[in-house]
Amino acid sequence: MIKFIGSSLLVLLLSGCGLEKSASVPQKAFQTVTEQEAILLQDGKEKRYCSRCGMDLVRFYKTNHAAEQDGKAVQYCSIHCLEEHLGQGVTLKNPKVVDVSTLKFISIADAFYIVGSSKRGTMTRVSKYAFSNLEDAKKFQKLYGGEIMDFNGAHEKAKEDFR
Ligand SMILES: [Zn+2]
Repeated sequence: MIKFIGSSLLVLLLSGCGLEKSASVPQKAFQTVTEQEAILLQDGKEKRYCSRCGMDLVRFYKTNHAAEQDGKAVQYCSIHCLEEHLGQGVTLKNPKVVDVSTLKFISIADAFYIVGSSKRGTMTRVSKYAFSNLEDAKKFQKLYGGEIMDFNGAHEKAKEDFR
């Protein structure tokens, strides 16, 4: 009898441990890629961090945007931070966004954005993920919802965060 009580206690303790462990391990964000997968366009010590808010660009890679300012690459964690920079009245050239499918930068002119899917956004409650291929965007939309927009549509949505 005593032995039985002892072993059931042990089971309780073990399952308690398991619960605690799974709760304390942070879930990887959808935006996160490996360091090898991420393309960092900026130079210098701070190249891994958003030029506006300082967040880790690898961690939020799938919503990264980039552009050139005075011939130098600037990279952003999100369209939110790109918009924040544009709001300063700067001139940016060659704006780009990460294609979620290939993890390569594409011109914003070629991007199909899924706006407002169930996947969490970066610096916003309304997420915006870009794809170069319309079929990929549609597949994503089927799984996670949201609306398909071009850059201008996604940009207008991003501006709403500042109102
Ligand atoms: Zn940022």
